[in-house]
Amino acid sequence: MKEIEIIKPDDWHVHFRDDDILKAVIPETTRHFARSIVMPNLTPPILNGKQAIKYKERIKNAIPKAHNFEPLMTIYLTENTDKFELCKSYQEELVFAAKLYPAGATTNSDSGVKDIKKIMPVLETMSEVGMPLLIHGEVTHKEVDIFDREKVFIDQNLDFICKELPELKITLEHITTKEATEYVYEGNENLVASITPHHLALNRNSIFVGGIKPHNYCLPILKREKHRKALIKVATNGSKKFFLGTDTAPHFASDKENCCGCAGIFNASYCISILTQIFEDAKSLKNLESFISINGASHYQLPSNSTKIKIIKKDYPIKFKKFILVGSEKIMIFNPGFKTFWEVKN
Ligand SMILES: [Zn+2]
Repeated sequence: MKEIEIIKPDDWHVHFRDDDILKAVIPETTRHFARSIVMPNLTPPILNGKQAIKYKERIKNAIPKAHNFEPLMTIYLTENTDKFELCKSYQEELVFAAKLYPAGATTNSDSGVKDIKKIMPVLETMSEVGMPLLIHGEVTHKEVDIFDREKVFIDQNLDFICKELPELKITLEHITTKEATEYVYEGNENLVASITPHHLALNRNSIFVGGIKPHNYCLPILKREKHRKALIKVATNGSKKFFLGTDTAPHFASDKENCCGCAGIFNASYCISILTQIFEDAKSLKNLESFISINGASHYQLPSNSTKIKIIKKDYPIKFKKFILVGSEKIMIFNPGFKTFWEVKN
C-alpha cells in the first residue's frame, strides 16, 4: 500500500445551490477541501455584497460542525453592476471575486452579460483594486457550434479584455480546449485557468457512444480526445497557471434524464480520488499537490492551507456511492468509469 501526504486542497469553483440541496451536498466538499469559491448563479443570482453575506451565512450554517471550511463569495456581474458598490464589497471583504457569465451560457445565466464592452468600466475598476475576475469563457451566439464556443470566446472577448487590462487578475474557468491551454500558458502572468476533474477524465465520446449519457452532459461540453490530452498535460506538468476548480454542480437525476436534460456534473464526492488516479496514470503524482493545493491559492494571493491530508492507495478499486438523496430526489455522483485505487484517509 502506498500513501501520499499533501497540503489540504482548495476547490476554486463550486455550486452549492441553496436550501435542501445546499444541506445535502455541502459535506461532500467540506470533507476534503479547506476553501472554495462559491458561484453566485442562484435564482435570483447574487448581485451585491449584502446578498452574498446572507448566502454565506446559509452556507456556514449547513457546514458539518467537524469540518473546517471557508466559503469565498462571489458577485454575479450584469450590465447594470455598479462598479463603486462592487469594489466596496470587495474591499470590505464581503466578497472575494466577481463572476462573468455571458448571457445564456449555462444554468441560471439569463441575467449575464450580452456585450462585454458595457462592463469594461467595471472591469477597469476591478483591475485597479486587485479584485479577481472569474470567467465562464463561452460565446452563446446561435450560429457558433457548441464545440467551438470556448475558442470563439477567447478570440472575440478574452483577448480583448487581456489586452485592455493586463493587470486584471483573470481566471478562465473550467477550460476544455487545447486552444485555451495555449492561450493561458502564453498569456500574461495575471491570466490563469481552472480545470475540472470531468474534463480531465472524459472526452465527448462519453456523452454519445453507446447511447446518450445525460449524466456526462456539462457546459462547457466535453471535447475531443486531443483536447483532453492537452488539459492533462498542463494540469500535470507543474505549471503554476493551472489549478483545480471542480465546477461540481448538483442537479436532480430527473432534470438530467429528461427530454431537455440540464447541464452539470456533481463530482465533489470522489474528486480527490479520481484526480490522484489521473496524476498517477500520467506519472505525475509529484505535481498533484501544486494543482490541487498550491497554484490556486498563490494566484489569489492567499496562504496555502496549514493542515495536510493523506491519500492512500488500496489494493482494490474503491467502490463509489451512486447518488445522494435530497428528499425523494437523487443527485447522481460522478463516476469516470475507470478504476480508481486512491482514497482520502479520514
Ligand atoms: Zn460552474
